[in-house]
Amino acid sequence: MRFGSRMNIAPVFNALLVCALAAVLWKYIKLQDHVFVLEEELVLTRQTQELSQVRIDYQAALQDLVQDGTKMVCAGKMHTDRICRFESLCYSTEAEEFIFFHSNSSVMLPNLGSRRFQPALLDLSSVEDHNTQYFNFVELPAASLKFMPKPVFVPDVALILNRFNPDNLMHVFHDDLLPIFYTMQQFPDLDQEARLFFMEGFGEGLHFELYKLLSGKQPLVREQLKTLGRLLCFTKSYVGLSKITTWYQYGFVQPQGPKANILVSGNEIRQFAKFVTEKLNVSSEGTPGEEYIVVFSRTINRIILNEAELILALAREFQMKTITVSIEDHTFSDIVSLISNASMLVSMHGAQLAMSLFLPRGATVVELFPYAINPEHYTPYKTLCTLPGMDLQYVAWTNTEKENTVTYPDRPWDQGGIAHLDKAEQDRILKSSEVPRHLCCRNPEWLFRIYQDTEVNIASLIQVVRQAVKTRPGPKRQAWTSGLYPGKVRGAKCQASVQGASEAKLSVSWQIPWNLKYLKVREVKYEVWIQEQGENTYVPYTVSHPNHTFSDNIKPFTNYLVWIRCIFNKNLLGPFADVLLCST
Ligand code: UDP
Repeated sequence: MRFGSRMNIAPVFNALLVCALAAVLWKYIKLQDHVFVLEEELVLTRQTQELSQVRIDYQAALQDLVQDGTKMVCAGKMHTDRICRFESLCYSTEAEEFIFFHSNSSVMLPNLGSRRFQPALLDLSSVEDHNTQYFNFVELPAASLKFMPKPVFVPDVALILNRFNPDNLMHVFHDDLLPIFYTMQQFPDLDQEARLFFMEGFGEGLHFELYKLLSGKQPLVREQLKTLGRLLCFTKSYVGLSKITTWYQYGFVQPQGPKANILVSGNEIRQFAKFVTEKLNVSSEGTPGEEYIVVFSRTINRIILNEAELILALAREFQMKTITVSIEDHTFSDIVSLISNASMLVSMHGAQLAMSLFLPRGATVVELFPYAINPEHYTPYKTLCTLPGMDLQYVAWTNTEKENTVTYPDRPWDQGGIAHLDKAEQDRILKSSEVPRHLCCRNPEWLFRIYQDTEVNIASLIQVVRQAVKTRPGPKRQAWTSGLYPGKVRGAKCQASVQGASEAKLSVSWQIPWNLKYLKVREVKYEVWIQEQGENTYVPYTVSHPNHTFSDNIKPFTNYLVWIRCIFNKNLLGPFADVLLCST
């Protein structure tokens, strides 16, 4: 902890420097000016001493950088799963490039050589292998620092990343907030004192307040770094984001859909939701126990044209208070507070539905789709709601009546306009009753259809929702109590008996998995696979007790391999125990 004294001076800075950005950094030249200001304002010698310490630290930091250069150690085999930890990673705000300074003490692991550019060292956002999101650095000898601008050191532990699309709530939650939250949990020094650096180049964006919840320090965006200096050096930093919580791929290389290998459960999503709820200081709205429906409305486009009628119908059908919220008219705290106690959330397809993750267990999500949109092809919110342990009921409704849709062919292309297309293509789109699967992000037919407004056929919607609510599973227990897997069976033994020239029996017994004695499990079964040695097929059996005598297909004077595993509640398959060799 060479720079331990930084901790102590931080409060002094915060109190005295008007500029919030300067409060985090200390800069050699600026500091000299400030020392006088500070000395005037603070007569306290202790603090003055601390400040003089800063200058010594600066010199020491600079000397360290020149001597030691940059150190990098990464986790992950590929650029798509790599996160790197750096000491003394620098950034030129003029060149807009990161710099790795080489010296005799620098470390670069992995040392990829030119493979570092094939295609990149790592993904800077959680969106996989997107060529606008790659991270790399340029290399220089540490000695070249002599000829470069005086570095400004960033004392905070930094998490350096790209946000993918900070103006879209789905992207905010799925690509940024959840991955940042869990990347921070992966590395203990990324705590509340850490600072986030957003390098994608956007301004703060519409939802900056949400990003601010993740650490105690104001995040900085790329543009702001310029005001801090020409050469920034991050004392300690992590670069990249964990993708472990993402559940959706947006269709850059194949049509959009759930990720092939989802690794997150509702449990982690809900813990993140709890963190956000607490940080927002959200109080639970309404009377406890009172059930209500939230309609999340869009006000700019993809509108429900008969929303008032819809609200009345929902209230009447379910005998519940029904309220509307929108991003335009409500604060985040209000929305989270309302959603977190709602029984049902009804909304047009759109990013606002990412906020389903704040719903309580057992709630129902009703997603409405405009005409010609097949809900099966666009499932970011369905996938979220149906993650194991999310315990949400999901139902989709589509407008199937052309007369109930309002199109906007003359709007700009990115709002679904098609006037720029040739006439034949326009006609084809207008006649089509379903948008074929397509890649992201500029398919004009998709944009045309997804930006329609809809007059919802109330009767058909209510019918769909009624059906869903009727089949809703009862209130579930915590996911982890019902989703635990058996351990290996233990101490397996076999005993053979030969009955005759062609008849034999194999008695196999074992002990229950070690964790079973601590669990209440509805149904415990065992699967036993018997394979004749040297054959590549096996015969599977399912038995209820930890011993069984097999006689079918068992031959005398033969070697058998026996594989045993335990199964809880039909679908929780445990691991196979070490193979057992049995000879008749
Ligand atoms: N948005 C909104 N009201 C509207 C239209 C959009 O709040 O009337 C929000 C929407 O929730 C999202 C962002 O604006 O966070 C961008 O919306 P867009 O239609 O581009 O994306 P989508 O919702 O289809 O993902």
